[in-house]
Amino acid sequence: MRIFNTLTRKKEIFRPLKKGRVGLYTCGPTVYNYAHIGNLRTYIFEDVLERALEHEGYAVRRVMNVTDVGHLTSDADAGEDKLEKGAKREKKSPWDIAKFYTKAFIADLGHLNIKKPDVLAPATKFIPEQIKLIEQLFSRGYAYETPRAIYFDVSKFKGYMRLSRQKLAEKSVRARTEVVEDPQKRNPHDFALWFKRVGRFKNHIMHWASPWGVGFPGWHVECSAISSALLGQPFDIHTGGIDHIAVHHTNEMAQSEGAYGRPLAKYWMHGEFLLMGKGKMAKSGSSFITLADIVKKGFDPLAYRLFVLGAHYRTPLTFSYEALHAAENALAKMRRTVSMLKSEKINKTRTPNSSSKIYMRKFSEALADDLNTPKALAVLWNVLDDMALSPHDKLSLVLSFDKVVALGLKDIKKLPPAPLTVQKLAAERELYRRHKQFAQADALRVKIGALGYSVEDTPEGPVVHPL
Ligand code: AMP
Ligand code: ZN
Repeated sequence: MRIFNTLTRKKEIFRPLKKGRVGLYTCGPTVYNYAHIGNLRTYIFEDVLERALEHEGYAVRRVMNVTDVGHLTSDADAGEDKLEKGAKREKKSPWDIAKFYTKAFIADLGHLNIKKPDVLAPATKFIPEQIKLIEQLFSRGYAYETPRAIYFDVSKFKGYMRLSRQKLAEKSVRARTEVVEDPQKRNPHDFALWFKRVGRFKNHIMHWASPWGVGFPGWHVECSAISSALLGQPFDIHTGGIDHIAVHHTNEMAQSEGAYGRPLAKYWMHGEFLLMGKGKMAKSGSSFITLADIVKKGFDPLAYRLFVLGAHYRTPLTFSYEALHAAENALAKMRRTVSMLKSEKINKTRTPNSSSKIYMRKFSEALADDLNTPKALAVLWNVLDDMALSPHDKLSLVLSFDKVVALGLKDIKKLPPAPLTVQKLAAERELYRRHKQFAQADALRVKIGALGYSVEDTPEGPVVHPL
């Protein structure tokens, strides 16, 4: 399998750290609001990654954090606390907000056939691990304390810009324009590891005791602490959306590698944005679309999944209801065909057609080429359209593909049998056809059509299905 590693900006052959196993860490949601369908695009990409690795025979352990501690409305240390903002908006406690939106997030995963990670780790359950990590950074000379916070000194960490390939100068310009509230912060791009419950945070609701006084962790710390606690360090693959490259993952890498002197992850993979018009869909902006919004408009969530799989994860994808509509039609067609296949009397003893193996190989190759889902879907359509393939082979291929594309094809029900009159006409037509009396056979096809059915001639005999 080859995957594009953000660290090297190259497609690389995937080689796991431990034979047959993959440790996968996927950054999770900040639970102060519903996920928008842009976030869900990233989670679908990560789900396909996990399923594709399983398709290759790996046992995958996937960990996802849930940011249920109040972080700030911008990626850097400025801005409002997101959970407290949500709490004010809904007149609930930040704890209740986190609980509510975690549940909503898990429900979204279910509707999109995204497998629940092996561990969903709430940041608030890993406070001791985060404190330990900060202590470790102190002992290795990367952390410093001011009366307001503990910071990571980025000037001490060689290769701080390795992942983003930016110049520190570019980053500083941005950092300087943000509110630098702490005059004792050494460099504007140093980032907080721990905020003390003082100054503007003196009434902060979520807080814990620490060696540096009562306060709460900086955002990036949880991922470093959770990943090393649950997957070890290094682990195989770390993923997220591309917006995480420049700040969050850069800081995670600095913390983890600074603390333990080993790489954090061997491969880094990032999903491109879902766009609305020209801009990216964003949670903090005033307008965003949730899965519930598209369901309210009558769409099946899996039509959204199919829409997402139709684009490679490393290309930006523009959302529109027209495109979603096209995906829904395609899904309906796919389901109709699968339902027909399930209704047919399948001759299981037939030896599989050799093209069956070729299709399986093509599907696997598409996924193994940095998760080329558009190509994998094209193979699925080719299978469905291939008249030379037996219904048995078609169905078994499609159901194996569905373990990765997860469009719910295995749950599609059989069609109810065609009415007896239609079945009789089809049998009669088959007799004519066998005797090469095509004019009579065609006349019966027209009659069958008038009753709302069509006949398809397959290697296993004629099959009738509703028009
Ligand atoms: P957040 O809850 O904001 O931390 O985002 C959750 C995940 O969604 C992260 O991996 C982000 O990188 C990703 N993400 C945010 N906005 C978008 C977008 N418009 N399209 C795709 N992924 C996104
Ligand atoms: Zn993270």
